[in-house]
Amino acid sequence: MRRTLIWTLIALAAVSVFLLVLAPPSPAHVDIAGWDGLAARTVAGAYHVHTTRSDGHGDKAAVAAAAKRAGLAFVILTDHGDGTRPPDPPEYLDGVLVLDAVEVSTDDGHYVALDMPRAPYPLGGTAEAVVEDVRRLGGFGIAAHPDSPKAALRWTDTSAPIDGIEWINADSEWRDEGRRRLIRAGITYFFRPAGSLARLLDRPATLDRWDALLRARRVVALAAADAHGGVGKRVEDQTRTFFSTAGIPSYEASFRELSIRAVLERPLSGNAADDARAVYAAIRKGSVFSVIDALASPALLDVHAVPSGTTVTLMARATLPPGGQLVLIGPGGEIARAAGELKHEVPAETRDAYRVEAHLPGAPGEPPVPWLVSNALFGSSVAPTLEILDRDVGGPAPAIAPFPWRVEKDPASSAILRTFESSVELQYTLAAGERRSQFVAIASDLGGQGFHAIDFDLEPDTATRVFVQVRTADGRRWGRSSYLAPGVRNRVHAELAGMRGIGGLTDPAPPGSTVTSILLVVDLTNAVPGRSGRLRVLSSALVR
Ligand SMILES: [Zn+2]
Ligand SMILES: [Zn+2]
Repeated sequence: MRRTLIWTLIALAAVSVFLLVLAPPSPAHVDIAGWDGLAARTVAGAYHVHTTRSDGHGDKAAVAAAAKRAGLAFVILTDHGDGTRPPDPPEYLDGVLVLDAVEVSTDDGHYVALDMPRAPYPLGGTAEAVVEDVRRLGGFGIAAHPDSPKAALRWTDTSAPIDGIEWINADSEWRDEGRRRLIRAGITYFFRPAGSLARLLDRPATLDRWDALLRARRVVALAAADAHGGVGKRVEDQTRTFFSTAGIPSYEASFRELSIRAVLERPLSGNAADDARAVYAAIRKGSVFSVIDALASPALLDVHAVPSGTTVTLMARATLPPGGQLVLIGPGGEIARAAGELKHEVPAETRDAYRVEAHLPGAPGEPPVPWLVSNALFGSSVAPTLEILDRDVGGPAPAIAPFPWRVEKDPASSAILRTFESSVELQYTLAAGERRSQFVAIASDLGGQGFHAIDFDLEPDTATRVFVQVRTADGRRWGRSSYLAPGVRNRVHAELAGMRGIGGLTDPAPPGSTVTSILLVVDLTNAVPGRSGRLRVLSSALVR
């Protein structure tokens, strides 16, 4: 009896020592004395959180409670959706500001739309189309988990004018780790959850991709918790793993691992609508930075530019734990580093982007993950505004209009084509019920005309997207979708060179001379079963 007790005690002591040796240290405490003003208007939050509305484990109340325990002021929910669910108005739950956003699946990866009203039709299709829709609807879009080891989830479009990018995604990070690191984190998780998760982080390659984007224009980078609260059939995760089956990581552990910090103009007021506007405004203008809180906390950052004649002095200071260094990164990479305040002069008319990281000794990862990542600060001039990707129509197009159109559709959907003197009108209803690749289209046959683009004037009865497609004799199709505003004449210029293969086809679009049909298609990419509407084709012409 006594011997059993002794052996049990020895075993317990051994396990404790084992865990102490293995477990990551608790976060370093950062002294913020003297930073009161900035501390009051720097608010920590979790961005990219799933609830039971999609594939998360907890509801809004559970998420808010976990955020409160982790000391966060706000959370941004990003349940999977197509944008047609009206977002919940901002609200305070448990003292935490809860903002409702949506993560849209595109053909080229997931795109998170913040601060966006309800979409008039389901968002989907190519990255280009969804990025365009989110912008038109007034939302702010962020390319999700560009580092995901899963090809189907990775953001692959490099040309779409995204507003933001996830420089790190905690849910993607552990997927590329070796078994030893994972097992160790799995054991120590029960002892120190957030620290164990942070030990799986590396410096993401996305930081380099982001720097490349910054050479052309402003793109806001955020750290994504991608919290699911453990168990659940994640959209991101079709294969079951130890982590997803064991309820790991919890929301609280995710929220204590990393956060974003919005630097507001004044402290939060307690009015949910006003505070939501303030947080979104800060994110939109890049007045937000990211911190790996499990390494050290809290973090405050003060970055600003002081103009003086022909130069601007960039100044950066942060609350740094012992051994920490601030690093200034410019167009050519690292420019300067310091253990305290950083100062750097740049020409007043610079259009280059500068940003700040803080590095800690002993940070996990190969290469080590930065503890703090700021957004980009530009010189006195504003970053060049976005170019619209569409090229302008060249000279006047030789018209062959109207084409003789006919209807193509799936057997269950209905469509009537009315022909007027100089236009046609398609009246359609996609078959109701389950999704069965319903579509309606009008098609026109061509024979060997050499053209490089098609021009249309289209007028729909409701806001919609229409798919302009071309087809060759062997049935292969290429296309590109365009947004159409309701009740007005929309000029659509569809370049063959801008069309993408449909149904997994990767070949570039063929020359016009081999196109046998052109089609205007309404399908389930941006419509739901049962949808009916009208589409007028006011003119159509091939551009040679
Ligand atoms: Zn995702
Ligand atoms: Zn997600």
